[in-house]
Amino acid sequence: MLRATFTTTPYLNMIKPLSGGFFDDEAKPIQPCMVDRPGLCLLCDYDETEDAEENLLCMMNRWDQRNDEVFVCGKFEKKK
Ligand code: SF4
Repeated sequence: MLRATFTTTPYLNMIKPLSGGFFDDEAKPIQPCMVDRPGLCLLCDYDETEDAEENLLCMMNRWDQRNDEVFVCGKFEKKK
């Protein structure tokens, strides 16, 4: 999968979790700034959006597919 170098920029504007962090199914912490951004996200209008909730959902989607060969996103919208 084509992946971008991670950046912390999108995660500065993300909903802060009430539980003190993000955790996977095995209760291991997830560092949002370490979740790779697939190439598709770099072409997407939602990437680095001002919407904190949207940034959270994008991060979760990326994390969920981190080991998949192909990244798929039903919300993708080409940058204008
Ligand atoms: S909406 Fe999907 S494709 Fe667009 S930035 Fe978010 S995760 Fe990436």
